[in-house]
Amino acid sequence: MSRAATFGELRIDGLGRRFPNGFTALDGLDLTVQGGEFMALLGPSGCGKSTALNLLAGLLEPTSGSIWIDEQRVDTLPSEKRNFGMVFQNYALFPHLTVAENVAFGLRMRKVGKAERTARVRRALDLVQLGEQADKPPGQLSGGQQQRVAIARAIVVEPRLVLMDEPLSNLDAKLRLDMRTEIRLLHQELGLTTVYVTHDQAEALSLADRLVVMCSGVVQQIGTPAEVYDRPANAFVAAFVGYRNALPARMAGGTVEIAGLGWAFPSERAQGADGDAVAMIRPDDLLIGGPETSRPIPLTVRVCEYQGRTFAVEGRTADGTVVHAHSLEPLSPGRTVDANVQPERIQVFPSDAGSGTQEPALVASGEQS
Ligand code: ATP
Repeated sequence: MSRAATFGELRIDGLGRRFPNGFTALDGLDLTVQGGEFMALLGPSGCGKSTALNLLAGLLEPTSGSIWIDEQRVDTLPSEKRNFGMVFQNYALFPHLTVAENVAFGLRMRKVGKAERTARVRRALDLVQLGEQADKPPGQLSGGQQQRVAIARAIVVEPRLVLMDEPLSNLDAKLRLDMRTEIRLLHQELGLTTVYVTHDQAEALSLADRLVVMCSGVVQQIGTPAEVYDRPANAFVAAFVGYRNALPARMAGGTVEIAGLGWAFPSERAQGADGDAVAMIRPDDLLIGGPETSRPIPLTVRVCEYQGRTFAVEGRTADGTVVHAHSLEPLSPGRTVDANVQPERIQVFPSDAGSGTQEPALVASGEQS
């Protein structure tokens, strides 16, 4: 079943969906997915990622834009003519058919002969390690096994594109991790091209070759996991990929000063951008009890939680800002301690671009890889 991607690129041009009530769920999505690439659409509930996937699948009609596979326009084709495989959050299996019959369904629709059908179903079920369960109804399988059946059903037709909408959401934490690895392995081994929707940043960062971060129907950033993680395009993206701390700051003359600390450090982002700012820091970059790497940030501990190698601490700065940090040792509530951060780990954004809790200003529209 292993093969190379069957096309050069999937191109999405200005794709939009406005619902009859006037609500725009997706606003001018521009995206190019290379054949063989694993692309994740990431964003909070309601940001339009399922709408984008449903438009790709042909389950919803766009109100603007177009979708192309190489030189072929596909948004004008009915869903069944696109040759895409779909995996949904709720598995969507037929309860009255056996596992094998569920997997065979798409092959029957395509009028594939019985001998070939049987062989391909067996191969697909072996790939997802369900060969033994072929004759059972899906209701007798666990959630993880049912999702594997759904994946086998999607890949057995050798689709040119696999679309997955939150396929792991209904599984428990351990199974989610195992299935995540399996999905990535199948993608690699079968040379699939995958578009994967999730609200889970860890899932998107670990699975995808590139990701699209969305908010309110608008693309905020497109990049590799490392680009999005290390250099978020704006405060919304930073907050979404784990920069939990947002400290009030000021940019002036190419430096950033964190309010109340009297500590200024140079920053590329502060060049020519004087004004109020927000300094965003990941909790694991704000260390209590580690080496002194900056002007110490004094915190009063409110909560200290055991997390294995480190302790997660919630504290307050002198001006009352809530801060999340990591400590190398347990700390009792009420204690005042110093936290340190390497200045290059701090992301700084003008504060009128949003702090992650309000609508962000658009920093990156369209392609930005
Ligand atoms: P979730 O993870 O919760 O599914 P999502 O990012 O996938 O979120 P979408 O399902 O794409 O979001 O929905 C985007 C927005 O479009 C939401 O605010 C939703 O309420 C709205 N929406 C979806 N379907 C319709 C509809 N038929 N009419 C009007 N608005 C709709």
